[in-house]
Amino acid sequence: MSLSGKTAFIAGVADDHGYGWAIAKALAEQGATILIGTWTPLYNIFTKSLASGRLDSSRKLSNGTMMDFAKIYPLDAAFDTTDDIPNDILENKRYKAMTGYTISEVAAAVERDFGEIDILVHSLANSPEVKKPLLETSRQGYLAALSASSYSFISLLSHFGPFINEGGATLSLTYLASERVIPGYGGGMSSAKAALESDTRTLAWEAGRKWKIRVNTISAGPLKSRAAKAIGFIGRMIDYNKANAPLQKDLTAEEVANAALFLLSESSSAVTGTTLYVDNGIHAMGIATDSPSFAPAIVS
Ligand code: NAD
Repeated sequence: MSLSGKTAFIAGVADDHGYGWAIAKALAEQGATILIGTWTPLYNIFTKSLASGRLDSSRKLSNGTMMDFAKIYPLDAAFDTTDDIPNDILENKRYKAMTGYTISEVAAAVERDFGEIDILVHSLANSPEVKKPLLETSRQGYLAALSASSYSFISLLSHFGPFINEGGATLSLTYLASERVIPGYGGGMSSAKAALESDTRTLAWEAGRKWKIRVNTISAGPLKSRAAKAIGFIGRMIDYNKANAPLQKDLTAEEVANAALFLLSESSSAVTGTTLYVDNGIHAMGIATDSPSFAPAIVS
């Protein structure tokens, strides 16, 4: 699965805990040039911690060299052009000194800096009301979740697509709450993931015909990332999955990244429009085997 000579843009990396970082590393292991889009308010914090060496142990590749980012772009995937940025964001202290962070500007900068790319990864999600049940979610909160977590992929693909090489591949990350009820995954996030999965199929058709590139998504199991911790019960989700999934083991970010590597490499050249579950098999279950309703004699 050598990716030497290939360039990947990964949107949604701001620390070394999440899926985006692990995917960057898996692609770097195979020789890809890595470009990162880091959420604008976290850009300075992330670039400073990289420069300080605090992330060096996580950057180490299997051959002993360090994963390098050819360039890190500030990115706010909720905005397509500068006209979309509201005044309170422009004036916010984390944004005030930053420029060029809308999707159209970042795409133009990547094309100017690198010409063409081969791989696009969307590893980001955001919902201001994620802790609220859907019934209590405001219209504004719901639309914000869809804007940052689903439309952001459509926009990234439409802006990057023209300079993704033929045969290139794109990927997003989704979650089972799109199709099964996960109480607590609120604020419209379940709807946003359902949209992302549906869009994967439609965009696979459109981008396949238009640019001859592929579009897939991975439905990943729970991981203690920064974003997941914000939801508030990620530890319990991990315990639940371990107790009830066909494979009773921890799920690592590396396992999801290895599946991503497959979907982003030539090895999957005929795979597009697909949602691939990488979750120790929990999606296949119809019952919770650790429920007190089931005696240990029936299920083990
Ligand atoms: P993470 O915190 O590593 O990644 C989320 C990233 O999104 C962060 O870097 C954050 O800064 C960025 N972000 C938020 N709003 C943004 C915006 N408007 N513009 C640009 N960037 C923005 O957490 P993660 O859990 O690895 O999340 C990556 C993807 O994986 C998300 O799509 C998430 O829904 C999905 N996922 C996560 C889990 C899990 O349990 N962690 C499970 C299934 C799917």
